[in-house]
Amino acid sequence: MTQVFLGMPAGGLGNLVETEPFPAAAHRELGNTQMRKNLRHATHTIRDKRLRVVGELPDWEQLRDAGSAIKNSAMFNLEERLLEFEKNFTARGGVVHWARDADEANTIVRDLIRETGSTEVVKVKSMATQEIGLNEYLETQGIEAFETDLAELIVQLGHDKPSHILVPAIHKNRTEVRDIFLKEMPDVDPALTDEPAKLAEAARKHLRAKFLSAKVAISGANFALADTGTLGVVESEGNGRMCLTLPETLITVMGIEKVLPHTDDIEVMMQLLPRSSTGERMNPYTSMWTGVTEDDGPQNVHIVLLDNGRSRVLSDSFGRSALNCIRCSACMNVCPVYERTGGHAYGSTYPGPIGAILSPLMTGIEVEKNNSLPYASSLCGACFDACPVKINIPEILVHLRGEDVDSQRDKHKIPTQMDLLMKGGSWVLGKGKNMKLVEKALPLGRLAAGKNKKIKKLPGIAAGWTQSRDIPAPPAQSFRDWWSAEKESK
Ligand code: SF4
Repeated sequence: MTQVFLGMPAGGLGNLVETEPFPAAAHRELGNTQMRKNLRHATHTIRDKRLRVVGELPDWEQLRDAGSAIKNSAMFNLEERLLEFEKNFTARGGVVHWARDADEANTIVRDLIRETGSTEVVKVKSMATQEIGLNEYLETQGIEAFETDLAELIVQLGHDKPSHILVPAIHKNRTEVRDIFLKEMPDVDPALTDEPAKLAEAARKHLRAKFLSAKVAISGANFALADTGTLGVVESEGNGRMCLTLPETLITVMGIEKVLPHTDDIEVMMQLLPRSSTGERMNPYTSMWTGVTEDDGPQNVHIVLLDNGRSRVLSDSFGRSALNCIRCSACMNVCPVYERTGGHAYGSTYPGPIGAILSPLMTGIEVEKNNSLPYASSLCGACFDACPVKINIPEILVHLRGEDVDSQRDKHKIPTQMDLLMKGGSWVLGKGKNMKLVEKALPLGRLAAGKNKKIKKLPGIAAGWTQSRDIPAPPAQSFRDWWSAEKESK
C-alpha cells in the first residue's frame, strides 16, 4: 500500500526569482483594479470561513503549539527521519530518489517517465514541482504535463502563473475563467456560461479522458510518515485521488521538510491544515499510500526527495522555523500587502508572507530581487497570529532585513545610505543639544515646502517616503522652543 497526502500544495522553490524586484512589480500590480477586487473578495471569504471553524475549537492554541512542536522535532532529527522514511518506503515496494537541486529532480522525473514510454502525464497540484519548473522542463523534453486541479488548469490554459499557494487562480474571476475555457478548450460548448457548476463541468469533461488514458501521474505530498513510509495528499476536488490511483506509475516530488516522525502526528496536522487553508473542518479527499499493493493502484511508485535550498535554511538557526510551513496559505489570506499586490508581485513560487522569507532563506538574501522581499510587509503580525504552526514570520523578516543591510555593505565596501541615515538618526536623537542644532534647520524645511506647505520629494533613500504621500511643512516653532517659551511666560 502506498499513501501520500496530495492535493493541497506541497513543495519548494525552483522558479523562485524570475521577475522584477517586488517594489516595481507591486507598483504595476496595484494598477490592476480588477485583480485587486477579485483578490479582496476571495481572501476575505476564505479568512472569514477560517475564523468560524477555528473558533469552534476551544483547544486551537494548544493544537498550534502541538503542530509547532511536531515540526520542530522533525527538523531537529531531519536526517534520521528521512532515512527511516526511506527504509520503510523501500521495504513496501517504493523507490526513493534523492535530488540536491531542481536540475537533478527534473532529470530523475524525466528518466522515470521515459522508462514508461509515455509522452503525457497527469499532475496533482504540487508546489514542489512548480518550484523546480517541472512542467516547463518536461515540455522541452517532449513530454506534456496536464494539470488536473481546477485552479491549476485555469492557470495552465491561461498561460498564466499561479498567484496563491492554495488558490492559484485567485486573481481571476469566473467571467475571466469562462473566457479562458472558451478560448483554450477545443471541445468546450460555445454557449458556456460563467456559472461555477457549468465551469466545473466543462473542466471535468476536458480532464476525464486524460485521467483514463494517462500511464504516469506526478504528485507532491503534504506529509511523509517516517515510521511507516507512508505518503499523504490532502485535496478538495477528487482529481488527486484519480491521479494517485489510476495510472500505472506514480512519481511524487516532495521537499525533504515534509517528513513527520509518527503516524499519530496526523491527528494534529489534519485538524490544523484544512481549517487554516480552506476554512473546512475536514478536507473532502485525503489519500494515503505506503509503497505498492499488488493489482491495486500504481505498480511503480517513486518518490523524489528534494533539497533545493532546504539544507541551507536548516543551517540558519534563526530562519529554520520557516521549514515548519505546511503550505496552508493562511498567512497570505490575512496579509494587507498580499491583498493589495497579489501573488505575482513576489516574483517567486511562494508568494505572501511565507514567500517573503522562504525565497531569501532558500537562495540567499544577496540574490538580486530577493533582497526587497523582506520589506514587503507592514510587520503588523497578522501572519504570525494566523499561522497554524506558529512561525514567527515578522521576526524572521526583521532578521532578513538586517542581513540585507549587512550584505549591501559588504557588496559596496562603503557605508550604505541606510547606515548613514541610522548613524545620523542616532547622533541627532542621542543628545538634546544635537537635536536643538538640527531644529535650527526647520526654516529650510519650510522653504522647501513652498507656498503649498508640502514637501513632495525627498532625496536618496528617503524618496520612498514621499513616493505616495506629501510631508507637511515643519512648524515655525519647534516643540522645544515652544516649551521654553511657555515656561518663561509663567
Ligand atoms: S507560514 Fe504558516 S500560515 Fe503561512 S503558509 Fe506556512 S503554515 Fe500556513
